[in-house]
Amino acid sequence: MSKPLSLENELLSDLGKSLVEGSLSDRRLLAETSKQTAIQILPNASVLKIGGQSFIDRGRSAVFPLIDELVENLGRHKMIIGTGGGTRARHAYSVGVDLGLPTAVLGVLGTFVSMQNARMITYLLAKHGIPFIEPVQFPQMPHYLAERGAVVFFGMPPYTFWQENPKIGRIPPHRTDTGAYLVSEVFGAKSMIFIKDERGLYTADPKKDPNAKFIQKISVAELKAVDLQDVVIERPVLDMMENATNRRSIQIINGLETGNLTRALEGEEVGTIIYAD
Ligand code: ADP
Ligand code: MG
Repeated sequence: MSKPLSLENELLSDLGKSLVEGSLSDRRLLAETSKQTAIQILPNASVLKIGGQSFIDRGRSAVFPLIDELVENLGRHKMIIGTGGGTRARHAYSVGVDLGLPTAVLGVLGTFVSMQNARMITYLLAKHGIPFIEPVQFPQMPHYLAERGAVVFFGMPPYTFWQENPKIGRIPPHRTDTGAYLVSEVFGAKSMIFIKDERGLYTADPKKDPNAKFIQKISVAELKAVDLQDVVIERPVLDMMENATNRRSIQIINGLETGNLTRALEGEEVGTIIYAD
């Protein structure tokens, strides 16, 4: 009869033994695992997400000045640049919904659209040696950041067929805001900056409500308590922030105003800050 694994392995810590022998559904045991602080893998890099509908779809007038600002910041800030999907993704979702395709398949479609946008941004940055990388190439990201100072990735989390169903409706609940945010959390990045077309978060969508008031800083708890009809980022990001080990605040800026990105990269509280307390 063989001995239990833990008895054979004197190298295991008490926690190690409990994890090997115990149930991974035991809440008390799970709580023990967060006593060790999580490392920050890329603490000097900022994750940026360039909006799809709010930004890239506006074309040259929005995108070119942002590209210039990104280039100006090369060598000063390390940037992990994710892209949204936007109107083409929404069109794909609408056709897919009409055809009765399941959420995860819609997610696959959305992934390709954020990939298209990532490719376009990459070609605009190509002469500066900035590569587009797919999730399988993320282990090489530290090298590219050290050598070139930036990488471009598609913002959609690569769940593809494993995308979970939303509580309401069919649209994939975890899209490019979520995908970019998760990159900032896992790599322990310096900041998570969402580049969109509004100053930040308002009490309502400023495009629809002229009386919407700007919110400079708000906690996730406060934001959930006020229960706004619509918000400027995907709601799952807010849920994820509450459980984050590293990235417990995010920033939303208006990238149409030149200078905001640079200010945000320098740590200035331009736009809206949402934080988990
Ligand atoms: P992305 O292009 O990054 O996917 P979205 O278009 O999904 O961005 O979201 C940004 C848009 O959200 C803004 O252009 C704004 O019109 C809208 N919006 C909705 N609710 C709010 C709110 N409470 N505050 C600010 N913007 C809001
Ligand atoms: Mg969006």
